[in-house]
Amino acid sequence: MPASGELGRVVRLSIAGLPASGYPDVVSAYPPVVQSRLMKLPRVIVYLWTFPTTSVGLLFVPAALLTRGGVCQHSGVLEVSGGAVTLFLRHCTLLPGGASAMTLGHVVIGLDPQTLARTRPHERVHVKQAERWGPFFIPAYLLASLFLKLRGRDAYFENPFEKEAYGKDT
Ligand SMILES: [Zn+2]
Repeated sequence: MPASGELGRVVRLSIAGLPASGYPDVVSAYPPVVQSRLMKLPRVIVYLWTFPTTSVGLLFVPAALLTRGGVCQHSGVLEVSGGAVTLFLRHCTLLPGGASAMTLGHVVIGLDPQTLARTRPHERVHVKQAERWGPFFIPAYLLASLFLKLRGRDAYFENPFEKEAYGKDT
């Protein structure tokens, strides 16, 4: 999710964790048929399927901890913020004005803990997407954005992953 859009809209990017209490919240966003199938899947399988994407997010953990950032766990997701993570989100994304948060599997990086809390509903949709797409989440997201950009369309707001996430938190 971008930090701010051209129209002054507050935006966020994303990708997402483990206690049993967080599991029903994640599953409840799916249609009933999918929910029942997901509930039957052992969570460890879902985490393993998502791990290639999560491993990218885990790179930000030492980066944050070595630069006065922080890491905490919320509803089965590691949330990382501050320090080098803040610099990355402000200056190293393709979003004008930077991003306020980004989901990488079961890791969500954010500018600070308050931003992580504010963007949680949106980012948790991306967590579910990452669980659905597994190792193909990041390539699929980027290909969708590239396809849109080449067609002269908005690579962020028209990306189907973002459309779903914004549909759920508005
Ligand atoms: Zn998003």
